[in-house]
Amino acid sequence: MPDYDTTQDCLICAKHRGIGPLVGPVVHADELVIVSHRILGPGSGIVPGYLFIEPRRHVASLAHLTWPETTAIAHAAWCGSRALDAELAPRHVFSLIAGRTVAHLHQHLFIRPPAMPDHFAWHDVDSWPDRPLMDADELAALCTRLSTWFGAHH
Ligand SMILES: [Zn+2]
Repeated sequence: MPDYDTTQDCLICAKHRGIGPLVGPVVHADELVIVSHRILGPGSGIVPGYLFIEPRRHVASLAHLTWPETTAIAHAAWCGSRALDAELAPRHVFSLIAGRTVAHLHQHLFIRPPAMPDHFAWHDVDSWPDRPLMDADELAALCTRLSTWFGAHH
């Protein structure tokens, strides 16, 4: 396995090693970038359509990426947007990088479900009591379908 620049106490580096609370199904992985689905949310069940795009290397922000990492992340965001659009028919696919909590770059890519009422904030599907939920098996099947949208052939 390549020797990635990781930090022992970083939750996202740990996630990439398959350890810790953030581990979720991997949708795409290559030598530069990992795309996985969020599993944490309020209550039980998993809200489908929430991906994280992360460089394997432990870097805090966009400014610290190499050019190959930059293009890999941009490509993953494009593939992920197309995948979410095709599989979940959302009203929107949102993309954001905030980086306020964990100092390992992570791009959020997530949907607004079609039926989500307008009075819920754009970024707050978790507050919607009737949000769609999946169990682990349903999520695994979704991630398998999403994964077909990634890769060099697109
Ligand atoms: Zn890290």
